[in-house]
Amino acid sequence: MKSNCSRREFLRTAAGSLVALSFADSLLARSRSAKPPNLVFVFPDQMRGQALGFMNEDPVITPNLDNFASKSLVLTKAVSNYPVCSPFRAMLMTGKYPHANKVLSNCNSRSAPFGCELQESDRCWSDVLKDRGYSLGYIGKWHLDAPYKPYVKCENNRPSFAWNEWCPPNRRHGFDFWYSYGTYDYHFTPMYWATDSPRNKPIRVKQWGPEHEADLAIKYIRNEGGRYRKANRPFALVISMNPPHTPYQLVPKKYVDMYEPRTYKDLINRPNVNKEGDTPGGKLARRHIKNYLAMVTGVDDQFGRVLKTLKHEGLENDTIVVFTSDHGNCLGSHEHATKNVHYEESMRVPFLIRWPGKIRPRRDDLLISTPDIYPTLLELMGFGKDIPEQVQGTSHASLFLTGKGKRPASQLYIWVPVGKPAWGRRGLRTHRYTLMISKTEGKPVEYVLHDNVNDPYQLKNVADEKPDVVAELTRELEKWLRKNNDPWLSVEKA
Ligand code: CA
Repeated sequence: MKSNCSRREFLRTAAGSLVALSFADSLLARSRSAKPPNLVFVFPDQMRGQALGFMNEDPVITPNLDNFASKSLVLTKAVSNYPVCSPFRAMLMTGKYPHANKVLSNCNSRSAPFGCELQESDRCWSDVLKDRGYSLGYIGKWHLDAPYKPYVKCENNRPSFAWNEWCPPNRRHGFDFWYSYGTYDYHFTPMYWATDSPRNKPIRVKQWGPEHEADLAIKYIRNEGGRYRKANRPFALVISMNPPHTPYQLVPKKYVDMYEPRTYKDLINRPNVNKEGDTPGGKLARRHIKNYLAMVTGVDDQFGRVLKTLKHEGLENDTIVVFTSDHGNCLGSHEHATKNVHYEESMRVPFLIRWPGKIRPRRDDLLISTPDIYPTLLELMGFGKDIPEQVQGTSHASLFLTGKGKRPASQLYIWVPVGKPAWGRRGLRTHRYTLMISKTEGKPVEYVLHDNVNDPYQLKNVADEKPDVVAELTRELEKWLRKNNDPWLSVEKA
């Protein structure tokens, strides 16, 4: 066949039409792959990894996540390395551990004098995508700015202790569509600053936060009236819902009703909760378990609406969707109220990623760490070469795509007291163990070791029984800390 034959001639024979069709198909595929994928990144606050219906742990109702999981790569051992708000968020945005990104505690007026906030100079994954022509939207909780005086007028900013702050445009790291706040836990009356809102004019809303945010996310995805993003550009949208964070009672009744007539007796199934006992943890669990699970169901419902929109708009195949959380929730396990401890309920988070035709749906026990998310996503999206050298996380993109690749042997655990970067708790989680070592000024060093295989609820500290394991894991921990320039190693044992 002549190479210069006309298209009409080319189509004349049956064989020719097949060739022409497959040629067109491959062109289409090439043009499709030429446009990088969209990203929708959804992360509610304080949703533990156990609170996923399909995992058969908490008796929670999550039909949308169950269905989503069947089409996703589910990382069953994902953790938040520093399981509290701002440190997680900073690791997510910068790909760096807290001692490198300076967010060593929650952002509030007590940590502000120590410069605890996301650094404007850090190059976040969103900065990279911005430079690659993406439209970027951020909806919901941000919590990466230090409050400054005079504090924003709102219920959780008191002269003695302030939490909430506006994020000025120069600190938004490439997000051109903004509808966010620092931290504010009034889920039925949330507040937001839109893209152009001045600091003194936040928007006050009377609607359950996740529902309001899903409404807006749907408009963003549809690009209603062309007002939300550039139509011809890929987009990345973050939806950072506040529930199932406290206060648990701030949840629509329709989600609580789905759990009737069950009581705490049916809903608390973790043996590390003092289910019937007269302790603060037991009381907390009995009082709040139903509302906590109902909140997760509400988040699931709103997430389902977002997924439906992607499908309806024909964007499902071109969009990577991630669902995770900033940390978990003890809710009475080990007599702990919430998070910021090394226990599974606090550290383990959902991590589901869907990319139809590219990432094969399956479960994997990869020991992913929070700073790994940044380089992994950028490489998946085709921007592996744009990952800054300062990023400390590891890309698992090829492992996501092929199931093969280098696997980390452990995950770091961190807690730093405000203003004392060399002190506090450090630890390590492997496929079998969790080690936690606590250094407090003037107190002996404390060692906790849990055998998570033989004791999945971490009821027993076996540090004294297994000194060899403690020694081996401590060496591994020290490797992580040296790599991260963590001054904890230099603190003398009391
Ligand atoms: Ca949080």
